[in-house]
Amino acid sequence: MAELPRVYLKTGREGPAFGRHPWLFSGAVDRIEGKPANGAEVTVISGTGAFVAHGLYNANSQIRVRLYSWDQEVRLTHDFWHNRIACAIHLRSSLGLMGQETGCRLVFSEGDMLSGLVVDRYRDILAVQFTSLGLFLQQDLIVDSLVTLLQPAVVYLRTEKGMRELEGIEAQDQLIRGNMPEGPVTIVENNISFLVDLHTGHKTGYYLDQRDNRKAAAAYAVGRRCLDICCYSGGFSLNLAKAGAVEVTAIDSSENALALAGQNASLNNLRNITWVRSDAFKMLDKMASDHESFGLVVLDPPRFAQSSRGVDQALKGYTQLNSQALKICAENAIFVSCSCSGRVSDQELIRVISNAAARENRNVQILEVRGQPPDHPVLASCPESAYLKCIICRVI
Ligand code: SAH
Repeated sequence: MAELPRVYLKTGREGPAFGRHPWLFSGAVDRIEGKPANGAEVTVISGTGAFVAHGLYNANSQIRVRLYSWDQEVRLTHDFWHNRIACAIHLRSSLGLMGQETGCRLVFSEGDMLSGLVVDRYRDILAVQFTSLGLFLQQDLIVDSLVTLLQPAVVYLRTEKGMRELEGIEAQDQLIRGNMPEGPVTIVENNISFLVDLHTGHKTGYYLDQRDNRKAAAAYAVGRRCLDICCYSGGFSLNLAKAGAVEVTAIDSSENALALAGQNASLNNLRNITWVRSDAFKMLDKMASDHESFGLVVLDPPRFAQSSRGVDQALKGYTQLNSQALKICAENAIFVSCSCSGRVSDQELIRVISNAAARENRNVQILEVRGQPPDHPVLASCPESAYLKCIICRVI
């Protein structure tokens, strides 16, 4: 095979790359030999001249090289990508997540050593999302592999906001294979049916990542008056209602999300859920001044920290919402506090809860420290891939 362009690292900056972290930031690059095009394969070499990894180059991105192979003999060929995708699908099959009516994440970017590729499966529809230019340029090959391995009815490209600026990806949502059915698709999760809107929904249409946490929260719901803050299409609400909550109040600021949530409740014949369209900060203030109290509160806010620089601001936002939520927790209430920011660790979220509890003069016991389900695997060498935290507490 032809020699690849070489990216030399600054001495002392090789640690993460040797440690198999898949992101090589521009600040670690000393010099480049050859003229790699954006998206092209390069070899990364340490300051002392040792082979580090093979990756895909992008001068438009702060992540200058995404690393995929740490074996000098293993280059990023067609077979390499096909095998990685097959390896990801094998995990989901072995987890029993490939049933006809289910949804699951088939490929989880860094978690599956495919940094920049997400594939979600809703029944026989695949939603593909690219967050790296290098893999975006391999789109045809990736889609061919998915079709060969799974024979899906539909492959749909969902684009994520900001990718033009971050990666130089020029793409629009579009159908790649098959015919999209009219209207939303129905998937079954924890024996509850959910409508997924692949066109306008958040993420690729649904928050698959909270599947197991919804079930865990539901285990505490019997006989409790519940509140679901930032409910989106009702994932937690429906699980709580079905598990025997006395009633559920659910808040979200998005009209579209609540419309879908209402349809989901009807679809499952669950009638004791009240949907409230409001800003969470404002509604929680109002509930506190109305002396409302709940026996179970779920707080699942959007990702506040987009980058490492935004972490302080995000922690302030989380602390504010956690305090407001604790204010309306009844004595002995269950509080389920989530964060979906890869930049906020579970220890930091626990500190947020603890600070909020001190502020509200409450005691909090931690019952469960939870994360993301196994179809969103965490790559040991990439702590940022552990993005979802879900702490289940008791509030006294
Ligand atoms: N709990 C949901 C996922 C929540 S995602 C589930 O299990 O599926 C975060 C949600 O927060 C989104 O639906 C978004 O519309 C909502 N949101 C964002 N900012 C908000 C705000 N200030 N007030 C209320 N909801 C907000």
